[in-house]
Amino acid sequence: MAEPIRCKNCEQELSENAKTCPYCGEKRAVRLSFKRWFFLFFFLTVIYNIAKIDTVFAGSLSSSARKQIAKPLVTIENLTWLESASASTMNADLKIKNASQYTIKDIVISCGYHDKSATEIASNTETINGLIKPNTSKMFKNVNIRVINSQEEKNGCAVSDFELIK
Ligand SMILES: [Zn+2]
Repeated sequence: MAEPIRCKNCEQELSENAKTCPYCGEKRAVRLSFKRWFFLFFFLTVIYNIAKIDTVFAGSLSSSARKQIAKPLVTIENLTWLESASASTMNADLKIKNASQYTIKDIVISCGYHDKSATEIASNTETINGLIKPNTSKMFKNVNIRVINSQEEKNGCAVSDFELIK
């Protein structure tokens, strides 16, 4: 026969379901049953494995998959066109924001050119050499951008590509 349950304060015998001792009012110590321990252990094991799988998964992402994740997070924060140096180039101060968790380099920006009806007639790309650390913005001064058409038709620029540094 099982040991009778006793109050740890007054040592009176308690019924199995008593939450407090009817004699002295002492709260009964909560003992986890084997079944509850098992479920707790099982639950923690599941959590641990999910965390582990997630870490392994993140570490094994291919370069292109990581780039895919980073892509929408790399943006031009600010672009200021400077005085034109020649007819064929424009200079700009560019602030590029890297909100991704990766260090990036060789940032390619594409600038589109539109006619009066907003149809894109041409676009060109420029590669900016320099690193941008995760979750930082970096200013690139006096970036030379080749101009295809006249300044009036020049349109916005956007980051179109970059390389990830592992
Ligand atoms: Zn008691």
